[in-house]
Amino acid sequence: MPTCRDMSELVTDYLERVVSIRERVDIWWHLVRCEACRRYYDQMRRTVGLLRRIPPNRPDTSTENRVVAAAHRQRQD
Ligand SMILES: [Zn+2]
Repeated sequence: MPTCRDMSELVTDYLERVVSIRERVDIWWHLVRCEACRRYYDQMRRTVGLLRRIPPNRPDTSTENRVVAAAHRQRQD
């Protein structure tokens, strides 16, 4: 599980989608449990969204479900 210190780097990777499915799940779990990192993530997501001129996506359960489903699939392969 990543620490809050790890998260500052991982959040950027997460947003750039350069992390593995396994890491995505770990990051997601940390965000669920840690309000400080969730705020940092929101801030970074907005920044990245602005840079790409793409409206930031709201976190929703379908995204979370896809990540978890993908993790399950990877484990089965
Ligand atoms: Zn944290």
